Amino acid sequence: MNHIRGKTTVKILGVKFDKLDFDDAYQRFTTFMMQDETKMIFTPNSELVMMAQDDDAFRQILNEGDLTVPDGIGIILASRIHHLELTERIPGIDLMAKMLAYANRSNKSIFLFGAKPGVAEKAAQKIAEQYGNIKIVGVQDGYYDERDELRILDKINEVKPDILFVALGAPKQEKWIYKYRKLLNVKVAMGVGGSIDVWAGTAKRAPRIFQKMGLEWFYRLIKEPTRIGRMMILPKFLIKVIFTKAQASDE
Ligand code: UDP
Repeated sequence: MNHIRGKTTVKILGVKFDKLDFDDAYQRFTTFMMQDETKMIFTPNSELVMMAQDDDAFRQILNEGDLTVPDGIGIILASRIHHLELTERIPGIDLMAKMLAYANRSNKSIFLFGAKPGVAEKAAQKIAEQYGNIKIVGVQDGYYDERDELRILDKINEVKPDILFVALGAPKQEKWIYKYRKLLNVKVAMGVGGSIDVWAGTAKRAPRIFQKMGLEWFYRLIKEPTRIGRMMILPKFLIKVIFTKAQASDE
């Protein structure tokens, strides 16, 4: 499987990932901040890759991401099975934290779009407490009438945030970013899933020990047993990855 050496991206079940470690991913983000057109950052996990199997448009959108990094142990396991050399998990929420620190240091502005009414405001408050210099130029909840999309676009563009965090859940957030990427007056738009809830304190992350061991999913399962349906996707994903490998080595 040495043919992937030297490549800057790899594909897992048809979904592109950039072959970068956390620091390189962050560096790539900082280069986006020097450019003019809107760059898209996506952080798929195995659940999203499975979603993308049956949704061609979603898969193509993920593949057009300017930075697409593996958020979750499932993708890293798949990478190991195929010797694809994705070295580490890059959780969207951790990358977001680095981006917030960057914005705080370099006087850049952010906009939080998504989550239930009131949640983005609460997240903004918590972020402002932690990053005293950050410019939070707007918030918008993610439960809006489809007919209001252009109004939301205008609301964002009016305040010209440098970074737009979009938390509408997948694949809605990635599709929204893709649809409006050419009209958005932002440097970076990133799909962040439940991260605004975590910042607001309405959802909690697993303790660090679980994160380090790649067992964040297990913690969430204990806390929210109803997630079992969603979690069963991980073994299905791995079986599909293994099967795909067997097919590839037959060629
Ligand atoms: N969400 C939203 N609008 C919607 C659907 C979801 O703003 O139409 C928000 C939801 O409130 C949550 C976030 O999207 O804050 C992520 O949802 P989910 O937990 O499904 O995503 P995950 O992080 O598990 O991918």
